[in-house]
Amino acid sequence: MSPLAPPVAGAIPVLLYHSVSDTPVGAFGPFTVSRAQLAAHLDLMLEQGFRPITVRQLLDGLATGGLPPKPVVLTFDDGFADFAANAWPLLTDRGLAATLYVTAGDLGGRSEWLASSGVRLPMLSPREIADLAADGCEIGAHSMTHPHLDCLPHAVAYEEIRTSKDVLEQVLGQPVDTFAYPHGYHSRATKELVIAAGYRSATAVRNALSHADDDRYAIARVTVTSDVGTADIARVLAGIGVRTASPRESWQTSVWRQARRMARPSGAGRR
Ligand SMILES: [Zn+2]
Repeated sequence: MSPLAPPVAGAIPVLLYHSVSDTPVGAFGPFTVSRAQLAAHLDLMLEQGFRPITVRQLLDGLATGGLPPKPVVLTFDDGFADFAANAWPLLTDRGLAATLYVTAGDLGGRSEWLASSGVRLPMLSPREIADLAADGCEIGAHSMTHPHLDCLPHAVAYEEIRTSKDVLEQVLGQPVDTFAYPHGYHSRATKELVIAAGYRSATAVRNALSHADDDRYAIARVTVTSDVGTADIARVLAGIGVRTASPRESWQTSVWRQARRMARPSGAGRR
């Protein structure tokens, strides 16, 4: 592949993967990449001189000025069993790590929050996430039941945020200090609950590039879907066709939250 323009000055791509499997399941197909696809993405990053890092490495690097010149942050949401079987070997074969955000209430079970769309994917077990952590994977929390946190009463949202931290810390025997908002949905109140629960950072979605001055409690990520090829990843890394995250929420996000609050007062949701 021919070299592309250097990344937008100061832009930090944070990629969001979900399932990694050669046998995508039903409605979750668009959020599933194959093993060959992930391998090709990782090889492209390395060929282009990017250094894949975890969220913790991003924060440490920003704090100390020790970020590699071309960082790309790798995150995987939900905690599906296919992460250990399919994604982690591809990462470790290349000497890479990633941050895995786990829906703690479904550990060792199935993805119950997807059941209404007919998808019940196997989840990692407590033993498996402990092994991954021991092997250098960063484990973050992703709530207990994967709700729309910004539509829940604050006490209920806090319980989801805090309990998932406690459960994972109990399993791992080490601090869990990064959180990912389910569906990326958060409000200013949700962020305050995450801060109160003792997290150091939280990732959102926003489909934009992050940067050194990004909100540490709403780090912008770009979702990698099943149709994303190496040329698309190269464009994201080069900052082509992707905006850099603004410090403010867009008006579309506010309107969409209002619509979801009216449609789903319980905050129950999918993906
Ligand atoms: Zn999720």
